[in-house]
Amino acid sequence: MIPFVDLKSQYLTVQKDIEASVIGVLRSGQYILGPEVSMFEEALARYVGVKHVVSCASGTDALMIALMAKGIGPGDAVFTTPFTFMATAEVIALLGATPVFVDIERDTFNIDAASLERAIVSVRDGLLPSRRQSGVSSKQLNPKGIIPVDLFGLPANYEKIQSIANKHGLLVVEDAAQSLGGKYHGRMAGALAEIGCTSFFPAKPLGCYGDGGAIFTNDDTLADLFRSIRVHGQGQDRYENVRIGITGRLDTIQAAILLAKLKIFPAEIEARQRVAARYGTSLRAANVPVTLPSVSTGYLSAWAQYTLLAENSKKRQELIDKLKKAGIPTAIYYPRPLHLQKAFSNLGYSSGDLPVAEECASRVFSVPMHPYLTDEAIDAIVNAMK
Ligand SMILES: *Cc1c(COP(=O)(O)O)cnc(C)c1O
Repeated sequence: MIPFVDLKSQYLTVQKDIEASVIGVLRSGQYILGPEVSMFEEALARYVGVKHVVSCASGTDALMIALMAKGIGPGDAVFTTPFTFMATAEVIALLGATPVFVDIERDTFNIDAASLERAIVSVRDGLLPSRRQSGVSSKQLNPKGIIPVDLFGLPANYEKIQSIANKHGLLVVEDAAQSLGGKYHGRMAGALAEIGCTSFFPAKPLGCYGDGGAIFTNDDTLADLFRSIRVHGQGQDRYENVRIGITGRLDTIQAAILLAKLKIFPAEIEARQRVAARYGTSLRAANVPVTLPSVSTGYLSAWAQYTLLAENSKKRQELIDKLKKAGIPTAIYYPRPLHLQKAFSNLGYSSGDLPVAEECASRVFSVPMHPYLTDEAIDAIVNAMK
């Protein structure tokens, strides 16, 4: 049986280190913001190449704290991709702002710069993109920010996105929940915008054993704001509250686990490159009728997922069935783009509004991807698809 994500093999690799660290925390009694938290933040800051890492309780909280620090709220439009995990757009709506969904590129599954610029212009001109065809004017929204997602581990095109953001005076928050360890023109994912956010959910490239996340920035003032919002808008001391915040801390135990896992993380990212390369050669050799993920020059994917595009949804189902018969698990990320989710029905989107995202949702499927996948296992997976 080939697991989709093999957390057990990883655990065996770091078991001694992790067990010693966790017992250390248990014996110390410093369960909240113990020394391991700042040790981990410092180690991760060095790895990502940013001045500040503020750890927090989840990737969702990381995004939320980032938007709260920037004062995003009612009347603001934040542009993002519909082809992502719910959290990316959920935080925008939670703060009372309006998510504006923008179509994606078929070859990278990431936000499409040309569509992004069109969406910004139409919001600025008082028309929500989804309602433009009918010419119905919506209440005026202020374009405020962009949340590009580095989907499946591949960074978005930050050069194009940042130049559009600069032109329109918008904030960029990188959703690096899936891309930690990835690179864009020599810079690490998480450090590709003014603010970066990541998640340590167990199945992410760097996962803990529960929930966790982190926010990245080079800006001292923002980092202080993140720290304050993380603990109920704390001021100089615990009982001074200078703004509205949340309970958003990373547990000391999770920080201790992450410190141990960060040591093997660069080698794991290397191993993921090997797995992806092997999938590529093996799938090509076997002539499996799928489009392989493409990584352009200047990009390094963290390979959170290895996602293939079948010719259509029927062919996808056939491939998934063949794999299932061979005992190989698959997953569909994401079967329904966010603009068509019931939770966002008030935004007024309908089927056909974002055609590339909708098409990808009907054609994508992901095969097992983790650093402990052997060449034999990869070949067995590919053979099952023949
Ligand atoms: C996982 C994920 C999140 C949320 O992270 P949690 O730690 O689960 O809250 C946000 N965005 C993307 C793209 C994700 O994959």
